Formats: sequence, C-alpha cells, structure tokens
Amino acid sequence: MAKKQKQLEVAFLGGVGEIGKNMTAICYGGDILIVDCGSTFPSVDDTPGIDLIIPDFAFIKDNIEKVKGILITHGHEDHIGGLPYLLSECGNIPIYGSALTIALIKHKLTEKKIQMPKMHAVKGGDVKSIGAFSIEFVSVTHSILGAFALSISYGGGVVFHTGDYKIDYTPVDGESIDLARIADIGNRGVTLMLGESTNVEKKGTTISEKEVGVTLEKIIETHTDKRIIIATFASNVNRVQQIVKICERVGRRVAFDGRSMVKISEIAKRLNMLDYEDNTVVDIEDIKGIQPEKLCIISTGSQGEPMSALTRMANGEDREVVIGDNDVVVISSQPIPGNEKAVYTLINNLYRRGAKVLYGSLEQLHVSGHACQDELKLMLSLVKPKFFIPVHGEFRHLKKHEELALNLGLKKENIKIADIGDRIAVDKKSMRFIDGVEAGEVYVDGDTNVDSLVIRDRKQLSTDGVVILLLNINVENRQLTSVDILSRGIVFEEEFLEQIKILVEDTFAASSYKNESDRGGLKNGVRRKVARVILNKLKQRPMILPLLMEQVKQDLTEEDDL
Ligand SMILES: [Zn+2]
Ligand SMILES: [Zn+2]
Repeated sequence: MAKKQKQLEVAFLGGVGEIGKNMTAICYGGDILIVDCGSTFPSVDDTPGIDLIIPDFAFIKDNIEKVKGILITHGHEDHIGGLPYLLSECGNIPIYGSALTIALIKHKLTEKKIQMPKMHAVKGGDVKSIGAFSIEFVSVTHSILGAFALSISYGGGVVFHTGDYKIDYTPVDGESIDLARIADIGNRGVTLMLGESTNVEKKGTTISEKEVGVTLEKIIETHTDKRIIIATFASNVNRVQQIVKICERVGRRVAFDGRSMVKISEIAKRLNMLDYEDNTVVDIEDIKGIQPEKLCIISTGSQGEPMSALTRMANGEDREVVIGDNDVVVISSQPIPGNEKAVYTLINNLYRRGAKVLYGSLEQLHVSGHACQDELKLMLSLVKPKFFIPVHGEFRHLKKHEELALNLGLKKENIKIADIGDRIAVDKKSMRFIDGVEAGEVYVDGDTNVDSLVIRDRKQLSTDGVVILLLNINVENRQLTSVDILSRGIVFEEEFLEQIKILVEDTFAASSYKNESDRGGLKNGVRRKVARVILNKLKQRPMILPLLMEQVKQDLTEEDDL
C-alpha cells in the first residue's frame, strides 16, 4: 500500500495571477479539499462569443476518489460560478457554505438541471471534520452576506484562508468580522496563510457599507418629486436592505427589477437576511398604479450588462419602465475593469432619455468589499502565519502583497507567488514548489466547451476575414479542373483574384499530389503561398481554407454560397 502523504500540498487551479475563477486544492494524508470553484466573465475583445471561463478540472477528475468536499467561502460568481460544470464532470461532491451561499448554489444548479449533491449549510464558528481535515468557518465582512474565512487544521498544522473580506466595524446586518477568533487562531499557530490581495494597491482602509447608506439616503431625501431607480449588484443584500429601509421611512414603495435582483431578494427574504413590511415591495408589473415620486426601483445592470434591466430601460426596450425627465438613476457600483465602455454607454443613453444620472466619483455611491492595505496588515498581524501565499489578485497585486508581508517581518523564503497549475508543498520547516498539476482555462460557449484554438480562429475571422479556395480536382486523371475563391470579411479586385487562381494552379502543378496523393502537403503549400501574396498586397492575414473537391465526374457544379 502506498504510504499516506504526510506533507501539506496546495495546488492552484485558478484565482492566482488573475481576479476571477478562484479554485484551490488542499491535499494532505491522501485526502483533497477544494476551496471555491469560480468562473470569470470573458471580455469580448479577448474571447469573442464566449459566455464564461472556468478552471480546467483535470487534476480533480484524475484524483476524484481522494476529493472529500468543496468549501465555498461566499456566493460571488468568482467563487461558485464553476460549480455546475465541476459537478456535471465529477459527480456528487459534498459542498459546505453559509445558508445564503448554499441557497445561491442550489438556485444555480436547478437552473442548469444539475443533480444536487449533499449540501451543508454552516454558520460562523461551526467546525466540520472532513477526511483528514478539521475546518472552522470564521465570519468575515464582504460585499455579500454569509462570507467566511477558513481555518483548516490537518495533521501537521493549520492553513488559514482569508476568503474575500474587508474589515467593516459597522456592518449593516450587525454580524461583524470575527477578529477575536482570528486573533485566537493566530495565537495557536498558523502554518500557512492564503490571503486575498484585490485592494492591496489602495492605502488605508475600505469605507464601511453604512456610508453608502448615508449617501443614498441624502439622494432619496433630496429628490422627493422624482421617481428613483438604483442599480447595484443583486448579491449585495446589505445595500438592498439599506435602500429598502430608507424607502420605508420616507414612504416610498420598492420594486425589484432584473432576474437576479428578484431572485436573490426572494432568497434573502426567505433566509431572514432581508427585512421589509408586507406592503413595501410591489411587483414590477404592478408599478403603473403607483405615483412615480412614491416609487423606488432597485435593479440589476450597474455594469452595463447587455441583457440587464437597466440596459433595457436605457435603450427604451423595457416594457415596465419608460425612462424620462422625471427619473433619477443612481449607479451604485464602480465599473469592473473591462466594463467601463459598457457602463458609460449606458449612462449616455440614460441622459439621452432625459434622466438625471448619479454615478461613479460624483458621490460616495459605492464602497469596495475588499480589504485595503491597513486591513491586510491587520489580518497578517493577527494570523501571524509562518508561511504566506497571496491569492485573489493579478501578478502585480500578489507582488505588492508580498512586499507588504515582508515589511511586517515575514521572511522572503517563507512567501511564494503562485501561478495557475503550481503546486506548493509545506512542512514544518520549509515551503517549496513541487511538480505542477494539469490546469488552465476552459471556455464555455452555450452548452459546449471550446479550446483556445477556436478562440484564435474567431479573433482572426473577426479582424481579417476568411478566404476559401476550392480546388476542383478530377480524381481519375488527378488534374486540377478549376479553382473557385470565396471570401467573407475581405474584398479582392478581379485582377488580384485571377493572380491568386494562377498561384494556386502553379502550386498544384509543382506539388507531389499527382504522384503521391499528398493532400496535406498540397493544402499547406496553397495556404502558405496565398497567405504570403495577400499579406504583401493587402497587409491582411485572413484565415485561408483550401478545400480539395475530388470528384470523378467532369461536370463539377459550383458549391452553394457559404
Ligand atoms: Zn467576493
Ligand atoms: Zn472574489
């Protein structure tokens, strides 16, 4: 029998060198725990037509019999978005998370018709024994309720994973970050800390969520004669709660708009995380009977998402809400890098329809859910880990977080910057890179997964078009009877087309096809030569597809238009 592995190994499947698709495997004593399983929203420029990017699950699939459970720190998409794909590929793995996290995952799996695994809703302070590990879930504050840090004990020590957090001393729901417990865990000794790095470039501390409430209250109180529409992240239940409370106080009804806003507020209400009186909330279909100045619509779409409620309103396509000069629209979020253009187009369109728009730096309309430098320092000082690996950041964030830890006295050799696919082994004395694991990105398009070659093709098609060369060949005498050229996204003059045809004929004549039936050689030769003349003449690199139409008959018919 193989000896049980007695060192801790941490394999990074996502969420390092990037902000998105967080996934880490923690291995000890022959058992594996997965922490988070997220997805990333693709950018149109880098990955055209792709709906979602998820981690490559090869390492998990290869070791599935060792996997004992999935711990989810909180319900944001970069921590749960990959779960439907992981579970459909790897089958039933038990999941642990807060009540809200579990409810959001259930909703996601139901929508995608994935069989429900065993799910365990846990509270802050709960301890669970899973395989070779004992896990304590520690409450932290973040921009979604029910967020945890994880203290994972194993035979040789303790791994402390911060999850996403900020230190909010005055949280809206009264549940604070459990600093006393974190200090206690630190005092007992933490071997390795994985710490989130999102806001490491920002000095000071993140402002409390309550401050946003103060700003929104002022706006609502100032615009007593207007209808108010506030767009924010549906998952930020605390912010939604603040808005609802202000509206109740000033006598406005509230309507939730947008699929995820309606769904998440329903889930939060059921879990007693969102509280309002019976007659406060009105269905968006029923707002017609309510005076505009007595109504506040809370909607999705603060990132300018194309299918969202606010984008529909801004484009004049929403059935329920027609924007006009009696509307004040509040964008209560910051554009996530990459979304700026969509957000500003949205704002322009709202202004065009006559609305007053309040957004971005104009006011304190949004606060981050992530810790800034002072909070990161406090966390490191309380946990006092022997070894440290910064996570949840692009490479520059991870380096900055390393710098910050060095300033606090951690030793250089006790900090490692990991990349996706890296595996790091930790024992009492040292931490080192060992053999990496199979890892990477998987692109989801509709119901299929596509690889990076497809993405490369799509980019090439979108920028330089495609040229299809049909070589009509009589197989009986192996003669080229004619060449047809079809193109999309690129235009040729008649004269240049003739030049290409002659080039194809010459290439055919010089090829070994006639004697050896070397189809591949012929196609490659044609592709290379035609690509070169097009590049020289037009300075373009279209995709070139030579097709050999090998036919017996002489009367070749033209292909259908492609
Ligand atoms: Zn988060
Ligand atoms: Zn995150």
